[in-house]
Amino acid sequence: MLNDYVTAHLGRSIADCSDRELYAALLNMTQQAAAGRAGRSGKKKLYYISAEFLIGKLLTSHLINLGMYADIRRELADYGRDLARLEEMEPEPSLGNGGLGRLAACFLDSIATLGLNGDGIGLNYHFGLFRQVFEDHFQREKPNSWIDSPTWLIKRDVSYPIRFGDLTVRSSLYDIAVTGYGNRTNYLHLFDLDSVDEGIVTDGIAFDQKDIERNLTLFLYPDDSDEAGRLLRLFQQYFMVSSAAQYILDECAAKGSNFYDLSEYAVIQINDTHPTMVIPELIRLLTERGIDMDEAVRIVEKTCAYTNHTILAEALEKWPVRYLKKVAPQLVPIIEILDDKVRRRFGDESVAIIDKDDQVHMAHMDIHYGFSVNGVARLHTEILKNTELRRFYQIYPEKFNNKTNGITFRRWLLQSNPLLAAWIESKIGDGFQKDASQLQRLSAFSDDDEALQELCAVKQENRRALKEYLRETRGIEIDDHSVLDVQVKRLHEYKRQQMNALYVIHKYLEIKRGRYPKRPITVIFGGKAAPAYVTAKDIIHLILCLEELIRHDPQVSPWMQVIMVENYNVTAAEKLIPACDISEQISLASKEASGTGNMKFMLNGAVTLGTMDGANVEIAQLVGKDNIYLFGETSEQVIAHYAEGDYRPRDYYEKSPMIREALDFIVGPALMGVGRRESLERLYWEILGKDWFMTLLDFEDYVRAREKVYADFADRTGWARKMLINISQAGFFSSDRTVSEYNRDIWRL
Ligand SMILES: *Cc1c(COP(=O)(O)O)cnc(C)c1O
Repeated sequence: MLNDYVTAHLGRSIADCSDRELYAALLNMTQQAAAGRAGRSGKKKLYYISAEFLIGKLLTSHLINLGMYADIRRELADYGRDLARLEEMEPEPSLGNGGLGRLAACFLDSIATLGLNGDGIGLNYHFGLFRQVFEDHFQREKPNSWIDSPTWLIKRDVSYPIRFGDLTVRSSLYDIAVTGYGNRTNYLHLFDLDSVDEGIVTDGIAFDQKDIERNLTLFLYPDDSDEAGRLLRLFQQYFMVSSAAQYILDECAAKGSNFYDLSEYAVIQINDTHPTMVIPELIRLLTERGIDMDEAVRIVEKTCAYTNHTILAEALEKWPVRYLKKVAPQLVPIIEILDDKVRRRFGDESVAIIDKDDQVHMAHMDIHYGFSVNGVARLHTEILKNTELRRFYQIYPEKFNNKTNGITFRRWLLQSNPLLAAWIESKIGDGFQKDASQLQRLSAFSDDDEALQELCAVKQENRRALKEYLRETRGIEIDDHSVLDVQVKRLHEYKRQQMNALYVIHKYLEIKRGRYPKRPITVIFGGKAAPAYVTAKDIIHLILCLEELIRHDPQVSPWMQVIMVENYNVTAAEKLIPACDISEQISLASKEASGTGNMKFMLNGAVTLGTMDGANVEIAQLVGKDNIYLFGETSEQVIAHYAEGDYRPRDYYEKSPMIREALDFIVGPALMGVGRRESLERLYWEILGKDWFMTLLDFEDYVRAREKVYADFADRTGWARKMLINISQAGFFSSDRTVSEYNRDIWRL
C-alpha cells in the first residue's frame, strides 16, 4: 500500500526514502483514507464546543482506527524500516491543559467509533499550552510550536466575520479528521485568525497582550494574572463561539432548517463554561435573521446542553460586564434580557445571571438557558445537586443528570499497551475491542497462577520499555525491578502532589534511620503548573530538590528514587501508564470532579491508592475494597470542615511528630543546600499557615495506606490478582459507554 503511494508520488521505493519523506507520505495517505469515510451525515448533528482538545499524536491512532496499522508496520519492516521511528517524529498537538481537554478528545474518538454524527469545535492555538522545561529546579515556560509541515490541519474555504466592538476580524477554519475505530470519519473544526503573528513572542511566552489581531490564537489560556490576560481569554472565547454559531447555522440552513426547527438539526454540548457565550450569540444571530427575541430564546434553550467539570470556586467563571462591553458589546443587551427574565421569574438574587457587582455568572446562563446540566462522576453530580447548585436543582430537577467520564480504549489500551492487549486477547478473544464490558470475562483467571504470572511478565516488560524510553529521551536511569509509584496530572494544590512529596521526605528520613523498604521504590511525578500559580511552582521546586538530594545520597538512592518528568503530556502518559504499579489519586475528597487518569491506570493494571473522590468512588465499588487502597476523610467530612471553618493545619503539625518532622525538613539545611530559600519557605508557610486543600488532615492516614500498599506488593501472586481484577472491571470506564449515555439522554442523534 505505502510503497505504491511513495512510488507514485516520489518515484522511489520505501527503501530509498528518508524517514521524513516516509512520515509525510504516510500522513498524506492516512488523511486520504480518513476522508474516504467522511460525509455520511444524518439530519441532526452534535457540535461539541470546547476550548480544549488534548488529542495527542494522531498517526498511530488513525492507522489503528482505519485498520491499517498492522499492514503498514509489516510493509515498512519488509523494507527494513521501523514504524515506531516515524511515530516518534510527529509533534504532539498542544491544544489542552489536562483532563478536560483529554476528555473532549476521548469523546470525539468514541462519537466516531459509535458512528454518531458529531464534530468538535475549538481554536487552533499556534503554540498551544506552553512546553515545560526545568532550569535550576524551577519550571520555565517555552512556546510549544506543534504545527509542523506536513500537518494534520486541513485549511477549509470557510471564514466568518467576528465583531469585537469597533474591530471586525475574520476567522478561518482548519479541520483535523477524527477517525472512528472501524467506522466513520468526523471532524474537529479549529478556528484561527490569519493575522496572528508568532514573531511577537519573546522571552519564554511573553507577548503584547493587548494586540488582539496579532496575539489572539497564539496560546491556550494565556496568563490570567492581570486584566490584559483575562481580557484576551474573553476575546478568544467570543471568537470561538461566534465562529461556531455561524458555522452551525450555515450547516443547518444548508440541510433545510428554517431555524425555528434548529433543535431538530443541531445539539450543542457546552464543555465547561468557556463556550457559554454561544447562547447569547446564537440568540443574537437568530434575531438578526428575523426571529423575535422570545422565540430565539426558546429555540436556543432546546439546543444547548452544559457539562459542569468542577466545583472549585475559582474555576466557576464570572466576567465583569465591563469586560463584555469591550469584547462583545452586542451581547450585553441580550445577556441583560436573559438576566431580567430570570429575575422576574424567580425573584432570587442567588440564581441571577448578572450579580449586584455587575459580574456575569457563566454557569448560571448555561443552567437557565440549556436543557441539560450534567456532572462527570456520580459523587460530583450529587455534590452539585446537594451543595454547589442546590438552588438550581430545586428549580430544574429534570435538567440534572450524571455522565461518569470515560477514556477511549483504542488509545489507552490497544495503542499504548499492545502487550497487554495481546495478552487479554489470548485469554478472552478480541470482542473486548468493540465491547469493553467483555473485560469482565478476565475474572475467570483470578486463581489461574499461570495467567497471573504472564500478567506480571507483561508489566515487567512494560517497565523495561519505560526504562529504555527514559534513558534515551531524558537520560534518566530507573530501576525496573522497583515498585513504580506514579502521580502524573496537572500541578494543583487540590490534587495534593505536596502530600506525596511529604511522604517522600518521611520515607527518606526512615531510610536514613536504617529502616529500609522490602523492595526499592521509584516515585514518578509529572505535571505542569499554571504560569502564574506560585504555590504550584513552589511544589515543583520542592520535588525537583528532593530528586536531586536523593540522587546524591548513596545511603538512600539504592532504596528510593524520585523523578519528575519534564513536560508531561499525552505522549509521556502513553509510556508511563502501562509500566505503573501504583496509581496515586490523592485529591482532597470532594475536589476532583471525576479524574480520568485514575481510569487509564486501572485499565493498565495499576492499583489505585486514593481518596473517596471523583470516579475513585466508582472504581472502589467495582473492584471491591481488597483491590484498592483508600484513605483520608470523606467528602461529607471535608465539606463540613469548609462550612465550619474548623481546619487548622497548625493543630495537626503540633499533634503529630511525623508531620512536624516532614514539614520542617522543607526548610531544613539539607534542602536549603539544594534549592532556593524564598521558594521553600513560602511553601512551608503556605502549608503550615493556610493549607487550603488540607494536606495535613489526611497525611498520617496516607502514610499508613501507602505502607500497606508496599507491604502487599511483595506478594507477587496476590498483587497480580489485584491487577487482574482492576483490568477486568475497567470496562465501565470506556468512553464508548459514556458517549452512549450522552446520546441516549441528551443528544438523541
Ligand atoms: C488523562 C490525562 C490527564 C488527566 O489526568 P487526571 O489524573 O484525571 O487529572 C491530564 N493530562 C494528560 C496528558 C492526560 O493524558
